[in-house]
Amino acid sequence: MHNDIQEILISREQIQEKVAELGQRLSKDYEGRNPLVICILKGAFIFMADLVKEITVPLELDFMAVSSYGASTKSSGVVKIIKDLDNSVEGRDVLIVEDIIDSGLTLSYLIDVLQRRNAKSTTVVTLFDKPARRTVDLEADLTGFVLPDEFVVGYGLDYAEKYRNLPYVGVLKPEIYTN
Ligand code: 5GP
Ligand code: MG
Ligand code: MG
Repeated sequence: MHNDIQEILISREQIQEKVAELGQRLSKDYEGRNPLVICILKGAFIFMADLVKEITVPLELDFMAVSSYGASTKSSGVVKIIKDLDNSVEGRDVLIVEDIIDSGLTLSYLIDVLQRRNAKSTTVVTLFDKPARRTVDLEADLTGFVLPDEFVVGYGLDYAEKYRNLPYVGVLKPEIYTN
């Protein structure tokens, strides 16, 4: 285990098993369709990469980067598009791939943007959910794991851009934040 990690909440094996399950489910849901799969950078990049390998329908990928947190562990409520999609979503079945839903602000903003651009459908798959912290009424269509109200890192999730490469999800030692 990484020296800065206090506790592993979800292991590499648990994540692998869950991602395969989600991929199988999405393959069924999208049968006969050709979804545009959108990765919300940077946090969802590992989940996206693992998930699409488990999806058997033909699909296209695109990437979008939004900012809401800066280096803080709490949402500011202000969402900004840092990198927009390369492709049009008009008339497309869009699958939004998120790492984690916390307040729900980022996602509600994104869904709104994609609907205003006339996506045919918008579906959300998130690997993690912290429902205790929701400030807007929003649910993912598919959720991997429900987490307690704690700030987590690993499997794409960062603290000040670190720890994204950890293959598991865990909680940092408290002294890491106070340094
Ligand atoms: P929301 O807008 O739902 O509050 O949060 C949006 C984004 O903040 C998530 O997609 C994720 O990138 C980041 N975030 C929320 N909770 C956590 C957490 O516990 N750990 C980390 N590293 N990022 C989080
Ligand atoms: Mg995210
Ligand atoms: Mg972050």
